[in-house]
Amino acid sequence: MKITSVRTHLLEHRLAVPFESASMRFDRRSHVLVEIECDDGTIGWGECLGPARANAAVVAAYTPWLIGKDPLETEKLWLVLYNALRDQGQRGLSVTGLSGIDVALWDIKGKHFGVPVSTLLGGRWRESVRAYATGSFKRDGVDRVADNATEVATHRAAGFHAAKIKIGFGVTEDLRVIQAVREAMGPDMRLMIDANHGYDVLEAVELGRRAADFDIDWFEEPVIPEQLSAYRAVRAGQPIPVAGGETWQGRWAMKEPLETRCIDILQPDLCGTGGFTEMRRIMDMATLAGVRLVPHVWGTGVQIAASLQFMAALLPNPPRVNPIEPILEFDRTENPFRQAILTRPIEHVNGIVAIPDGPGLGIEIDRAALEEFRPKDL
Ligand code: CA
Repeated sequence: MKITSVRTHLLEHRLAVPFESASMRFDRRSHVLVEIECDDGTIGWGECLGPARANAAVVAAYTPWLIGKDPLETEKLWLVLYNALRDQGQRGLSVTGLSGIDVALWDIKGKHFGVPVSTLLGGRWRESVRAYATGSFKRDGVDRVADNATEVATHRAAGFHAAKIKIGFGVTEDLRVIQAVREAMGPDMRLMIDANHGYDVLEAVELGRRAADFDIDWFEEPVIPEQLSAYRAVRAGQPIPVAGGETWQGRWAMKEPLETRCIDILQPDLCGTGGFTEMRRIMDMATLAGVRLVPHVWGTGVQIAASLQFMAALLPNPPRVNPIEPILEFDRTENPFRQAILTRPIEHVNGIVAIPDGPGLGIEIDRAALEEFRPKDL
């Protein structure tokens, strides 16, 4: 079995209402898929987290090392590609591009052996996961306090047990949002806050101290991801558990945050931190450090399907009678790629998402949708 081609598919959709996190403005959604084809006709799909066109360029740069190679040798190919860009890579786009390739190779491996990727990873501990609703950005032209409160009420009505909202726009306004959201969702629903590294340490500590009364499960990306001592200061200075890791690529980037305990909850992104091959190692590192792992998910139906396969195989930690179950980050913002590119879209029912059990990632791609969302300048 040999790899015969590596292609990327850019997807783009202009948003009806632009929105902002603390660190980024979105007027469109852009993602990139990786398609790897083999000489026996087997096709695997992957996805890269982050800027779509830059990731597509990185995948193209890796392609000469893949053509003619055995796609089943995932561990070997991962190291060959990592080494190819290591001297100018190590983290960032060199790893996000590699992630999409690795996910596609595991999809091929699952299809070749006729089993889901989760089985290849060691076995399925669960057939479904609870999802938490991600959204509540700052949308153009509306009052953010009322808008976020209304949105979480719809998540509650849809059956979600938890929701995550965006903060990092200023402590006073953020506290008004948190209070309104907690009132709208009631006391039982779980609430998480995500600053998208928009605060400095003093702001994050003040926000955390004053928001703790609203019963918050985690405080995500309080400060910029490079500033690990700032993470530690936030963790020491306020009572809400600190989460982070979506921008830390690869095991080398996870080492210091885990060893120096910057975070209570690690959030690696499967399609950004090195694919299934690296995610397994990161899972072991988190276990060694005694840190809970909750994957970050932001992308198309391919990224959701891949994350579900990993979550099916995620080892219970600790392995007790009623284990702590992983929860799936489920983006609720305007994003046609979640559903349209899959022939059988992944949806939630009362906040529960079933994990596909077909070969590989367990999904089929709708090629007409890829065409529909291809950027107009291509
Ligand atoms: Ca986040």
